[in-house]
Order: sequence, then C-alpha cells, then structure tokens
Amino acid sequence: MAKPKHRVYCPIAMRPKMVFETEQKAMRFIEMNADQFKGTAPIRAYFCKGCGGWHVTHRKRWEEIRKRTAD
Ligand SMILES: [Zn+2]
Repeated sequence: MAKPKHRVYCPIAMRPKMVFETEQKAMRFIEMNADQFKGTAPIRAYFCKGCGGWHVTHRKRWEEIRKRTAD
C-alpha cells in the first residue's frame, strides 16, 4: 500500500496524521476508505490549528478533540 502523500507530523496530536486542505476532501476520504478500517474507521473531520488543515478521526466524542485543539 502506497503511503499517503498528505501525511504530516501534527504538533497538537504529537504524532503523524493525514491532513486535508478542505473539510470536503477529508469527508470524501472518510467515505472512500470506510471499508479499509476495522473498528476505528474515521467518522468525522475537524480543523487543526497546528497543521492549518483538516484531520479525520474515529473519536465520537467531540470533547476529546476540542481538548487537544484548544488554544
Ligand atoms: Zn494537526
């Protein structure tokens, strides 16, 4: 499997993450790749201030994300 081009080191998550230019692109990735993930399929996209782009996540609770992306 080819490595995704858009993988960056996220200073907020403190680990490599995929980043998308727009929410639309992130959501399209989720739709197209849902079958490839078992149990941890990304279900939503959120904007990351650290990367200036959108990440996808499988976390259901919005608070878990906000804690990490808060200023
Ligand atoms: Zn990030």
